[in-house]
Parts: sequence; C-alpha cells; structure tokens
Amino acid sequence: MSARTSKNGKVYLVGAGPGDLGLATLRAKECIEAADIIVYDHLANPEMLAWARDDAETIYAGKEPGEHSLSQPEINALLVEKAREGKKVIRLKGGDPFVFGRGAEEAQAIAEAGIEFEVVPGITSAIAGPAYAGIPVTHRAENSHVTFFTGHEDPAKTEGAIDYAALAKLGGTQVMLMGVERLGSITREMLKQGVRADLPVALVRWATTGKQETLTGTLQDIAQRAVAIGFEAPAVAVFGEVVGLRDSLNWFEKRPLSGKRIVVTRTRKQASVLSNKLRSFGAQVIELPTIRIEPPTDLREFAELVQDAHIYDWIVFTSANGVEAFFEIFFKLYDDAREIGGARIAAIGPATAQRVKEFHFHVDLQPDEFIAEAVAKEFRKQSSIENARILVVRAEKARDVLPKELSAAGAIVDEAFAYRTVPETRDTTGARRQLAKEGADLITFTSSSTVENFLALGLPWPKGMQIASIGPITSKTARDHGLEIDIEARRHDIDGLVEAIRQFYAGN
Ligand code: SAH
Repeated sequence: MSARTSKNGKVYLVGAGPGDLGLATLRAKECIEAADIIVYDHLANPEMLAWARDDAETIYAGKEPGEHSLSQPEINALLVEKAREGKKVIRLKGGDPFVFGRGAEEAQAIAEAGIEFEVVPGITSAIAGPAYAGIPVTHRAENSHVTFFTGHEDPAKTEGAIDYAALAKLGGTQVMLMGVERLGSITREMLKQGVRADLPVALVRWATTGKQETLTGTLQDIAQRAVAIGFEAPAVAVFGEVVGLRDSLNWFEKRPLSGKRIVVTRTRKQASVLSNKLRSFGAQVIELPTIRIEPPTDLREFAELVQDAHIYDWIVFTSANGVEAFFEIFFKLYDDAREIGGARIAAIGPATAQRVKEFHFHVDLQPDEFIAEAVAKEFRKQSSIENARILVVRAEKARDVLPKELSAAGAIVDEAFAYRTVPETRDTTGARRQLAKEGADLITFTSSSTVENFLALGLPWPKGMQIASIGPITSKTARDHGLEIDIEARRHDIDGLVEAIRQFYAGN
C-alpha cells in the first residue's frame, strides 16, 4: 500500500438490501459494525444503524421531497472528504448499490479522488420485490429473459429515453424501478408499441418490509388503478406472464400480522427476540428503546457480593440482565464455575432461567408464575427457607416485594444491585420520527418500566394505537397512568405476549 492510501480511509459502497433486515448480507453487517461514518439513503432500512458502534457518526442523505438533503455532488464530496480524514466510510444504499440509484457515479467520484473503495452488492428490490409478492421473475414455461429498466426518464423526451419499441419486441419479464408516478405515460407508450393490453402487471411498494402492498392489473388498467387508490413510490413494477403466478405463490402478505405496525419498547439489546418473532409473523416493527442498561451506581459493592456468592444457600435472579451482570463479574473474579459453592439457583421467568442455563448452571427453582409474589410463595413451600441465606440479584429501584416476603418467611436476605436502567435519550434509527409521522397499530409493554419510560418521552400518542402488555403488573402500571389495555399475555413472557397478539388479530 502506498503512503497515500494508508493515510487515507476507505469507502465501502454497501447494498442494504430491499428493506427486510434479514436480507442484508453478512458483509454489509460487518461493514456497518466497523464503520466510523455511515451515509445512508432513504431506502436503506435505518434499523441497520443499530448495528453500528455507539460512537459512529450517521448522516442521512436521502432525497425526500420537502426535506433538506444533500445534493449528489455534496454526497460525493462528503465521502471523499471523510475518507481523506482517515475514516472508514460506509455508503449504505437501498438494494444493490450498482442497480440504478447513482452508486456507479459515486464509485467513479471516489476512484477519481484516488480513494480506496470496496463494493458490497446487495439484494436488489428488482428481484426481491417481485419474490416477496409471490412473483418469480423467471419461470421455465413463461420466459427466458428478464429486463430491468428505469421509469425515471420521461417517455416524451427523445434523447436517452428508453427504447419502448425494443422493449415491446423483447417481451419476457420486465421490471421497472422508479417512475410509478409516470406509469400512465409509460403504459400508453408500451400499448402504442404493440404490447398486448391484457398483459399482467403488478406493482409492489415498500417491498419486503411490514408496509409492503401489492396492486395487480393489466397493462391497460394498472395506471388508472394506481391513481385510484393513491399507490405511491417506492414501488417496483413487474410486466409479464409471471405476474399470474402470484395467485398461487403469494406468501409474504398472507402472514398473520401482515400490515400491522407494532412498537417494541425494550432496550436495544433485548428488543431483538420480540422484534424478530413479531417480524416472522409479518409485522412491521418499530424498535423504540426507552431505556438502556448501565452498570449499578455501586459496582464495587455488587462485585463484592458476587465474590461472596458461595456463602449463600440460594441465589435468586429476577431478570436476564441481572444474570448477565452477575456472571460477567463472576467470571472476571474466578476462572472456575465451582467457586459458586453450594448455592442453589432460582430464576423468575423462562427468559431469566434460559440465560442462567446458557452459563451452564442448573436452575433449581423456577416458579410457574413470573411475578415476585409467586417466587416468594414457591420458596415458602421449601421447608429449608428458615434462616437460609439468600442473595437476590436485581435492578436498582425495582419493586422490593420479593426480598421483603423472603425475609418475612425467615430467610436472611441480601440484595445485590446488578444494574440500573436509564432513559434512552438517543434516536439513532429515527424510530421516534417515524412513529410521529406514520403512527402504529400497537405498542408492546414488557415491564412497568417500559410503560413509565415510554410515557416519560412525552411523544404524542398516535391515533388508534392499541396496547399489549406482558402481564398484570405491567397492565396495572399502564392503567395507573390512564391507559387502556387491549391485550394482556396469559403467559407472562415474550412467547406468551406474541401469542396473545397473534390471537388478538386473528379474532379481529
Ligand atoms: N439500488 C436500488 C434501486 C435504487 S432506485 C435497488 O437495487 O433496489 C430506487 C427505486 O428502487 C425506487 O424508486 C423503487 O422503484 C425501487 N425500490 C427500492 N426499494 C424498494 C422497496 N423496498 N420496495 C419497492 N421498490 C423499491
């Protein structure tokens, strides 16, 4: 490497895929995780920014009507400038970076400036859009070639315009990106060139996301239909016989939570399990973390209690966060799991128990009900609780029912404050903006603190947004704040919550 390039940073032109997070490549994720700066587009799913380091800079370069945004020369200059500062610059673009959308021009500008660069292809909406609408772009019986074209150019302009006569002659499957607003003149031009009026056409908007919608028709009527229902960009249009296959292959839009926009209020780290389950049923998830997990105020005291864990008869975990904080310190202090001594382990709720098991410790007591009172009751069933030494590992400022009840039953209880929750003040993925702009169908609360912290943000309540709660304590907190509960999980864990949501919408 020359002296010049080693001083410089590097630009990665990365395809973000069409929207569904799962359709990002492993390489794209790696690049985002390592980025100093991410310059992202309107069509790149902003939730991918959650993969970035906390100190990475994110710059929105989308071109949305009415909003201030960077011009193309400004974007090019920004990429070059940041790379010259020695930064690792990720240019995140929707779909594939080299399929329309000016990625090629950006690459040229970077190359001309003598900056090192890498291209990470992405799954283009031109293929994924149709696929998620149940339309294979090829079928042996229907066609043997596919054409991608842009509808961005005005058919009335002569120079550089699309050769509609050639397209008409070529046939096969034709996929159009951009230009849904010009659909009227484009279809007229195709008809004029002799394409048959009853050729099947599909439009897929916000493909592969929870907002996906598909409209089908014929070359003759599709433009009119689109106008009639206000079908807007971004959309891909598919022209060809393969569109008919959707009748039997439409899978994505048939899932139980398709079209539902659901807010997840857990911490960024914890959200993914709930979010992924909701997404797998077709929901569009808005991850809006209200809190963040931080070390406890007195970390030293916590560490000392962890160090002495072996003197206890029982260690009680009340949350997965507590388990993590405990064992993180435990294994810093000890290199042998046996240092836990004879302590038995209790865990409230399956997620907590699961986390304990992941550290290869057996869970000796796991109450069926996932609330503090139930744990105390289970303990009382044990004859040995009198004078037993119990360490309760919990969050600072959590409800103290459990230690009290255990003490009342004769146990000697110590409390270990493992972590504290603080309000999440950042909005890196623009979720708050999105919620304000687009609203939501449902918000999920997985603990009293998520309710309180969400309300503390002071965001306007989107019209018609309903509430799903994980259990009676969370519901009570919400009601105390004047909210109405529409769904309450019967099993007070994530699976129970997802199941209750699914049933709610199945019945509605
Ligand atoms: N590089 C992108 C295309 C950029 S041009 C890709 O490979 O997908 C922008 C156009 O892409 C939009 O006008 C729309 O036609 C299409 N597009 C991108 N993402 C889309 C999505 N999720 N749903 C429907 N169309 C999309």
